[in-house]
Amino acid sequence: MALIGPRAETTADVSFASAAALCSALASAALISHVLPFTSIWRQFRAQREKAERRANIDDLSGCLNRRRFMEILDQRLSDITSRQIRRQQTQDLTLLLIDVDHFKMINDGFGHASGDDVLRALGRRALAESGWTAGRLGGDEFAIIVDDTDHRSLDHRIRRFCQELAAELRDKEKTRGYQGVSIGVASAPADAANSHDLLNKADVALYVGKRNGRGNITYYHKDMEREHAEQRQIARDLQAALLLDQLELHYQPIVGLDGELAAVEALLRWRNNVGGYVPPDKFVRVAEQSDMIDRLGEWVFRRACRDLKAVDFPRVSVNVSGAQLKNDRLVPMLRTVLRETRCDASRFTLEITETVVLRATPAVLRTLRELRAMGFLIALDDFGTGNNSFALLRDLPVDFIKIDKSYTQRLETDKISQVFVTAVGEIAKALGMSVVAEGIETEEQHACARIAGAVRFQGYLHGKAQPPRAVASIAGQAAG
Ligand code: C2E
Ligand code: MG
Ligand code: MG
Repeated sequence: MALIGPRAETTADVSFASAAALCSALASAALISHVLPFTSIWRQFRAQREKAERRANIDDLSGCLNRRRFMEILDQRLSDITSRQIRRQQTQDLTLLLIDVDHFKMINDGFGHASGDDVLRALGRRALAESGWTAGRLGGDEFAIIVDDTDHRSLDHRIRRFCQELAAELRDKEKTRGYQGVSIGVASAPADAANSHDLLNKADVALYVGKRNGRGNITYYHKDMEREHAEQRQIARDLQAALLLDQLELHYQPIVGLDGELAAVEALLRWRNNVGGYVPPDKFVRVAEQSDMIDRLGEWVFRRACRDLKAVDFPRVSVNVSGAQLKNDRLVPMLRTVLRETRCDASRFTLEITETVVLRATPAVLRTLRELRAMGFLIALDDFGTGNNSFALLRDLPVDFIKIDKSYTQRLETDKISQVFVTAVGEIAKALGMSVVAEGIETEEQHACARIAGAVRFQGYLHGKAQPPRAVASIAGQAAG
């Protein structure tokens, strides 16, 4: 056992012990029979020991260090920095990169687990090939890298090149076509934190903020982020309570047809917090999307919309479905269950899905959309024009309505580009059998322009703001009367 030395405290302990046992067994056999020379026994022992060490420290799939070993190394590096600081010696500062594969679940669900594994393997291989990088896989699709450089400019250059090369490799192959990039949170020591727990936390805060501002970002930790992060966590806690205490409300905004008749209403979430303030829905919906709270929120909205539809008899209700809901396989069963329990019919609903989600849809998302349509739902592409839309993609989408974003509608009177854009959408929609809804209409002029451009439905403050169900019902009565 003396051969094993002080490393025997790791999980490889057992394997080292068995290697030593094997070694001594082989040695005695060899000594007795004089068949195996000692060097061969030693080689076998060393190979076994290396294998055991590898098993204890290395993540099988990616080839990177596993979480435990990575954290040991990070701890060691940071305590070196601290002790050198105490002795007033020059330190070798370091930077921690926390890498998360964007929409990894979508790659797994849409293209199969083998594709997901290929992405992780390529990421690990490339990180290990970078000189001076110590790469670890912390779990799932999360990797961490220690870099001996704290200069943001040179770091940025190197990380971007790394991301580009990885993307080029993965997008080239059929199997990993679903890869969209990575998000990276960056924190440095000793500037941002002195211990591994803190440093990892800070890189995580940066990663979180970066992901919220759209994925594919390299985000450097800054102390101002803490406040924002704490605020988000507070919103998440309050929202959880609001859901439990049934403090959310669903308001409805009218959508009118060509003759001014009430064609539908859009259900919009309203949450007034304890101090009577109003939390904008896109703010808390985004927070809910970061966790599985979005599922409960989505179910609450749909259940309430079904209940209100029965009470008020709207001609049709549009319900917003978040991209995060659409990407998980719980959406369809949830909708079926709620429809059954509330005795409502899918054909009375339109599901509104943000353009960016639909246009980047994986085969799995497209299947879900087709399934929803087969159930009787109509589908609307919400906020059309806000992403890098491509008209060519529209052709194959199972969509019934295109909702032109208010940023275009509101410039229709004065801006030539908006006019050309809305007219083009109108033409294409007609050719594809879809209808155009113009949102954010505030003036008669905007309404007239949208109509000339081909919109057949209109929504905006001109026709009414979102209000509680009963208040909208009275508009419905006036329109019908
Ligand atoms: P959206 O689905 O595009 O909803 C339209 C937004 O535009 C609403 O904002 C509405 O109040 C606002 N709006 C309507 N007409 C006008 C107008 O004439 N002028 C201006 N300036 N604004 C107008 P709101 O209620 O703040 O909702 C914002 C976003 O939050 C929604 O955008 C939707 O993406 C999300 N959201 C709201 N309710 C839900 C929900 O139940 N589930 C999900 N997943 N998202 C929701
Ligand atoms: Mg909407
Ligand atoms: Mg919209």
